[in-house]
Amino acid sequence: MAAVITTRSLVKRYGRLRAVDGVDLDVREGDIYGFLGANGSGKTTTVRMLLGLVLPTGGEIELLGGRMPRAGRRVLPRVGSLIEGPAHYGHLSGRENLRLLDASGPGGPRRTRRHRIEEVLEQVGLAGVGRRPVRAYSLGMRQRLGLAGALLRRPELLVLDEPTNGLDPQGIAEIRELLLDLHRAGTTVFLSSHLLAEVEQLCTRVGVLDRGRLVLQDQLATLTAPTGSTVVHTPVPHRVKAALDGRVTAIDGERVVVRGADPAEVNALLVGAGVPVTGLALDRPSLEQVVLAAASATPDRVDGAGQDAR
Ligand code: ATP
Repeated sequence: MAAVITTRSLVKRYGRLRAVDGVDLDVREGDIYGFLGANGSGKTTTVRMLLGLVLPTGGEIELLGGRMPRAGRRVLPRVGSLIEGPAHYGHLSGRENLRLLDASGPGGPRRTRRHRIEEVLEQVGLAGVGRRPVRAYSLGMRQRLGLAGALLRRPELLVLDEPTNGLDPQGIAEIRELLLDLHRAGTTVFLSSHLLAEVEQLCTRVGVLDRGRLVLQDQLATLTAPTGSTVVHTPVPHRVKAALDGRVTAIDGERVVVRGADPAEVNALLVGAGVPVTGLALDRPSLEQVVLAAASATPDRVDGAGQDAR
């Protein structure tokens, strides 16, 4: 798959702080890439550098085959972006705000442009709000309007910084469906988030930023691949141990981990021994476990003067 975003040794310093510290991003065509990290880990700074809004202190960025920020004029029209609470005119309606945005776009027949605005409003679930001014919008509606603006030009790549910030669970689910639809239609999506569950449900590829450094980057399916064990739930864990002598590697309440990646085989043995089984599944690490392991495997960064010595 073609490279969509590539960075090499990307660095941003603010005085002595390395907000972004040698990051090598690798985002490919067709990915829904989840860029995870705690507050202050450098996600927004990285996203701003990708879009040419902040200049890197060091390193290289390639966006849709162009070197940023130089190629910005050429490649940015093919990128839709939404970062940190989009700015809109409060006295105008959502539709009027999109018309203003569109006026700075590539042009084209007016009817086609109006039609496109209606289409994106429909896509983000704002078609019904009519003439209501944006100042009367909820946070979630503003976020959707921002997304509508990002979609206007049918971008090949969407770059979204915390797109579900401020949304309620239903709003989050709707944005997720929308992003999955766009992805199915061929759009590559790069989104930053501090919500593991959101990324786990949506993304195909994951990068984890920890204090400015990329401590993990891989396909989600690889990171959460089966461990080779089976998890058995039973009210009588000690009887599992007796029936499968030597294969039980951990017991946690009613949860028993058994060596062997064939749940049917484990089940047959337990049923044969008369052990009641209430649940059975292949053992996989959760994204949370993978992320915590990666972050704890990275030595603490020395703050202050020590950073400059590296
Ligand atoms: P959040 O989820 O809170 O937005 P983030 O992962 O996006 O966090 P950044 O906003 O990129 O993190 O900030 C990374 C670090 O860089 C923080 O320590 C922040 O205080 C610092 N920082 C960001 N912008 C500036 C700036 N303009 N001047 C000085 N320091 C900055």
